[in-house]
Amino acid sequence: MPLIQVKDLRVGYNVYEGLLKVLDGINFFVERKEKVGIIGESACGKTTAMKAIMRILAKNSVLMGGKILYDGNDILRMNDTQFTEIRRKKFSMIFQDPSAALNPVFTIRQQFYDIIRYSSNQRMTKDMIHERAVELLKQAALPEPERILDSYPFQLSGGMKQRVNIAMALVSANELLIADEPGTALDVTIEDQILRLLKKIVEERRISIILISHALGTIKHFVDRIYVMYAGTIVESGPTEKVFKNPKHPYTQLLIDSVPKLTGEGVPEGIPGIVPSYLNPPHGCRFVTRCPYAMQVCKEKVPPSYEVEQLHYASCFLYDNGENGKDE
Ligand code: SF4
Repeated sequence: MPLIQVKDLRVGYNVYEGLLKVLDGINFFVERKEKVGIIGESACGKTTAMKAIMRILAKNSVLMGGKILYDGNDILRMNDTQFTEIRRKKFSMIFQDPSAALNPVFTIRQQFYDIIRYSSNQRMTKDMIHERAVELLKQAALPEPERILDSYPFQLSGGMKQRVNIAMALVSANELLIADEPGTALDVTIEDQILRLLKKIVEERRISIILISHALGTIKHFVDRIYVMYAGTIVESGPTEKVFKNPKHPYTQLLIDSVPKLTGEGVPEGIPGIVPSYLNPPHGCRFVTRCPYAMQVCKEKVPPSYEVEQLHYASCFLYDNGENGKDE
């Protein structure tokens, strides 16, 4: 049984203009000790899906259907006490902006100690809490842990703040770490260091990770399997090497072609058009307004998931050979 299994998840947001239908029945899973990546343009629902797993969706969100199974139990229907145990001991999440994740008016020590206390079932002495904090800061490759603990967030660089967030997340991430673009707010060399550090940590701890990243060049060396999201749907999935070497969905092909290359091949054209409005998304394939291969059927029906090669799936009518598509 996978560690996490998301089934037909539908999430919207109530806004002044109406209901934004963001997640449109997404399905994915994460095995134990597996590294899974999610890629896609901004505003395609990646963060919403992760916040649903952590049950931290905004107040105006609407759960319209679906399940998130953890060890066979639906997270979305657990009572607060049951889920709090998971958040204290099993799952944790790192956010894109390391500054926003830390409270500016408290030292790292005060914030870190609170997290350790909150996640522990047993009464811990101050020395025990301190020892744990130092140990985790060292795991996050932060030298001089004492100085870090005495600092306020503004006294640390962006890369250091993100390492502190990683160390704090490790207090409870004993089974799953979700990293939502953990390096995007940092410069490229620091982003690379952060991703390498995360890889080392999850492999040493033998835990699972879901990594969301725009850095396609880096993510392809990091994760075992990848999901490609577009406008609240999963359009392609499979082993990372297969998806990058042989992308099947037109969106994935255009997304990979959009990555600027340092080999003098000119500036990529990008993907024409924009992500459709979630107020009134297309009825059939959500990529239909931008797809160079769009057909009549794409406007009328939602494409099922087709197995295009072993363990590699694409939701696109180009792979319909007269049979119904299969669910992954
Ligand atoms: Fe393009 Fe149709 Fe495939 Fe959607 S289903 S990606 S519109 S060809």
